[in-house]
Amino acid sequence: MIVFKKSIYFLFFTVLFVSCNGLKKSKTTVAEKSTKLKDTSATTAHNNEYRASATRLNDIINTKLEVRFDWQKQYLYGKATIMVKPYFYSTSVLQLNAREMEIKEVALVDTLSVKKPLTYTYENDIITIQLNKEYKKNEVYTIFISYVSKPNELKKNKGSAAITDDKGLYFINADGKDQNKPQQIWTQGETQSNSVWFPTIDQPNERMTEEIFITTEKKYTTLSNGELAFSIDNGDSTRTDCWKMNLPHAPYLVMMAIGEFAVVKDTWHDKEVNYYVEKEYAPYAKAIFGNTPEMMELYSKKLGVEFPWNKYSQVVVRDYVSGAMENTSAALFGEFVQRNDRELLDKNYEYVVAHELFHEWFGDYVTCESWSNIPLNESFATYGEYLWKEYKYGLEAADYHSEKSREGYLSESMSKQVPLIRYYYDDKEDVFDAHSYNKGGQILHMLRKYVGDDAFFASLKLYLESNKFSSVEVHNLRLAFEQVTGEDLNWFFNQWFLSAGHPNLVISTAYDAARKKEKVQIKQIQNLSKIPVFKIPMAIDIYVNGKRQRHKITINNQDETVEFDAASAPDLVNVDAEKMLLCTKVEQKSVKEWAFQYNKAPLYLDRKEAINGLLKTPGDSLALSVIFSSLNDKMWGIRAYVLGELKKLPKGHEQEIKKQLSSMATRDSIANVRAAAINYLSANYTGKDLVSIYQEALNDRSYNVLSSALAAITNADSTKGLLIAKHYENEKNKDVLTGIAEIYSRYGNAQNNEFYVNSMDKITGYPKSNFIRYYGLYLKKITDETIINKGIETLKKVIEKDSANKWAVSSAKKVVQELEAKAPKKEEQK
Ligand SMILES: [Zn+2]
Repeated sequence: MIVFKKSIYFLFFTVLFVSCNGLKKSKTTVAEKSTKLKDTSATTAHNNEYRASATRLNDIINTKLEVRFDWQKQYLYGKATIMVKPYFYSTSVLQLNAREMEIKEVALVDTLSVKKPLTYTYENDIITIQLNKEYKKNEVYTIFISYVSKPNELKKNKGSAAITDDKGLYFINADGKDQNKPQQIWTQGETQSNSVWFPTIDQPNERMTEEIFITTEKKYTTLSNGELAFSIDNGDSTRTDCWKMNLPHAPYLVMMAIGEFAVVKDTWHDKEVNYYVEKEYAPYAKAIFGNTPEMMELYSKKLGVEFPWNKYSQVVVRDYVSGAMENTSAALFGEFVQRNDRELLDKNYEYVVAHELFHEWFGDYVTCESWSNIPLNESFATYGEYLWKEYKYGLEAADYHSEKSREGYLSESMSKQVPLIRYYYDDKEDVFDAHSYNKGGQILHMLRKYVGDDAFFASLKLYLESNKFSSVEVHNLRLAFEQVTGEDLNWFFNQWFLSAGHPNLVISTAYDAARKKEKVQIKQIQNLSKIPVFKIPMAIDIYVNGKRQRHKITINNQDETVEFDAASAPDLVNVDAEKMLLCTKVEQKSVKEWAFQYNKAPLYLDRKEAINGLLKTPGDSLALSVIFSSLNDKMWGIRAYVLGELKKLPKGHEQEIKKQLSSMATRDSIANVRAAAINYLSANYTGKDLVSIYQEALNDRSYNVLSSALAAITNADSTKGLLIAKHYENEKNKDVLTGIAEIYSRYGNAQNNEFYVNSMDKITGYPKSNFIRYYGLYLKKITDETIINKGIETLKKVIEKDSANKWAVSSAKKVVQELEAKAPKKEEQK
């Protein structure tokens, strides 16, 4: 799963660049808290309670579901036929998770398909069924359950305000009254929410094959796991699609999606690869998802294990409660991935496509046995993003992506440092954090660097093959690596997977000219009462007289000094030369050394580190010249970063910067760098020459550049800006509309209210919250009560209609509250 928490997708979730917009776009995080599910492993939750994996009493072999829907009531009518056998010990009882269903019938299906009623109790979301006799291991029996699932009637007494995140089955625009939203039904199983819509053993260590007969109106397309075995026209207005999943997988990976999708077809080898998008986005489906077959090829080859399922479909749905979900052979994405070709210039979410696809091996083929072991799913999916970037866009792009991920973990580590594999937690949703994702991805990268590529991928192949179609804990991974490398790796797994924290290093160097030795001292200053002393294998590059020599060393102690031969004082000592170590570090280097590192060390991360070093003494002429030259760095991430740091430079270089940025604003190959250059120019310079640059940028293909240009023109000349803004009022792009919303919030008048009201429904997802905040700023400036009341009414409609968009609702509530406080009881007086 991808969850958009600020910590996990630290910078991806925000607008990367300083803009002149008055609002910061990065403040809000997604509240991902979910309710506690009563489950068989832990019915009471305490922080100090060991979270065992669920004890396996019975094992589901196959689940057959027949489902149909009542859109008005938002009910699912289901019939489940479940084949079960005792896991090992004989039993006369079957317990199934079923959340707040109406149970109509529970029966045993005998060998002649005759149903015989069974007695059962239904308490705390568990159906306890008394079987007709004691069943022995391998003695298969079949249970039939008729039920009604009522996801919108789940009681809210389960400890979380965000129960809608946890209801398993979602009806979107169920009454069809919202003209701007398609009608859809979709499901979200992880962690234990699929038991809202079918009775099952809702645990990640359960596995079953399944078949789902979905009956729905003919106009809808359906998607589920496995293959579409057949469809039956029912002779009325409905059709029944039968989806069959012939390979076993965990219940949380079962899915359905129903809607009026365009299905864009692709293939990989002889397998279907389909993209289900809204019809309007059909022309862009291949721009969004089209690298999927190449990714399947890459991962299959790297892992030595072919993509394991019969097909791979990806579907985009409305109002999704998370980022994306790796349902087996049928991944589901939030609408944020739907972007047209122009929007893709500003931001594309291909890494999410890579992440979900890698889960098809790590998560679906081999599954964590409990939520404590979720890093076995998420660390790999996060590392899958790296592998794709490295292959497709090169090491620098991959390292940039990894750097942002590392920053996400380090930011989270300021408030929380826990073992990666967590046997103790309050709520199982807590484990979906920047530890399980970001830190886990970094750890896998360090493991790869330690054992080498051949051993790394051979170990993953062994791990996948020996654990396919079953569930794993972290030791399965260690054992695979130990078997391949022949080395005891407990030290690595203990410090990284089973302990908290990371090393905090203080690094110093000294040259002993008499002995011709370079000394490197590395101290670990983390809190050793909670965090271990790390064993750190790493490379140190020493540059003497222009030549680089690489030394492989291993740090074992809290304070360790290593010595290297050096004929003369080194130009640079580059500790952790592969820049792979997850740590914080303090390193004293001279400007000359940082400059040398920027110019000679091979990696993007070397240059980035050097720039940060040089920015500490921006008054130094050598530092300044390197910083200036880095505005032409081959890697856009450096150019963008330096642009954001220009304010730190000493006065006196304004004209030089202006000249450089004017060129970047029109010529940089990356749209976001062009936009950032415009934003910087607009915030710091005036002049007619610049206005003509902004004017030209209005023709840029990138909406981000267009919005920046519009804001810059308005900054320079508000009358002109307002006129141009009017011209773009009918744009569909959210960034452009939000840009106009900002302009009107600063310079607008009573007439602009119409724009806000008309645009409100065009904006979905997270960007809507910013749009609403600008609307709030606008309304606060307006004195006309009729308009203010119209504004309150519009926002109340958002609160009512857009309940799935938590960000928008929260912004709307805040604005309404502020407006009503400002003008109390206005409405009642009317
Ligand atoms: Zn994931």
